[in-house]
Amino acid sequence: MINLILLGLPGAGKGTASERIVDKYHIAHISTGDMFREAMANETPVGLEAKSYIDKGNLVPDEVTAKLVEERLQQPDTEKGFILDGFPRTTVQAELLEGITKRLNKPLTNVIAIDVDEDVLIKRLSARYMCKNCGATYNKISNPTKVEGTCDRCGGHEFYQREDDKPEVVKNRLEVNEKMNTPLRDFYEKKGILATVDGEQKPEEVFAAIDKILSKD
Ligand code: ADP
Ligand code: AMP
Repeated sequence: MINLILLGLPGAGKGTASERIVDKYHIAHISTGDMFREAMANETPVGLEAKSYIDKGNLVPDEVTAKLVEERLQQPDTEKGFILDGFPRTTVQAELLEGITKRLNKPLTNVIAIDVDEDVLIKRLSARYMCKNCGATYNKISNPTKVEGTCDRCGGHEFYQREDDKPEVVKNRLEVNEKMNTPLRDFYEKKGILATVDGEQKPEEVFAAIDKILSKD
């Protein structure tokens, strides 16, 4: 059983690593960012509330986000395990998550932080693009599709850039997330559950480092 948190600043490679982890372990990938983007596209009450925060690169309130995660963790596809990608992002969320995992009897097995320097993150975020059909993530510079204009995963031909990856928003997003990053890592470090990997290696090397940690248990 793998119940994993992937920690890392925006652009660290959490989504990219998650795609590979899901391919190997077939566990549920829970990205709060993806869930909010879906909610915004469907104009649900949560989506409408989240939009005002996300558009500016700020964090959605802790209680709103935690409630979404608690509901998601009750779906049957999490029974074999899950990856939390982008949650928790604050120590308040980490504390709320403790309550959730206790209530649902789904204890965490791993917390892995992906480390990448800020200057690399800025470059990565501005070159990130996604497949419109399946959501797979690519990078114009560091991680393009194998065949130009065709998604490796689903063969789709349409791509988009996230609104919040545009330069005006990226700076604030990184600042907001950086403020929370150290206390969050300390929270899990103190519990003795934190492992770290170097996120500046190639995507396959980042995955190999994560996989080594996951297959130890
Ligand atoms: P996160 O989910 O942590 O925000 P992503 O997985 O979306 O990060 O990755 C951010 C960008 O960096 C994407 O464009 C992705 O293709 C690229 N990327 C991810 N991992 C690596 C890596 N190890 N080396 C270089 N580029 C990477
Ligand atoms: P991400 O796709 O993880 O980069 O998230 C995109 C945006 O969604 C963030 O900039 C936040 O506004 C919001 N968001 C995602 N996860 C969380 C979270 N755990 N807490 C608060 N806001 C979040």
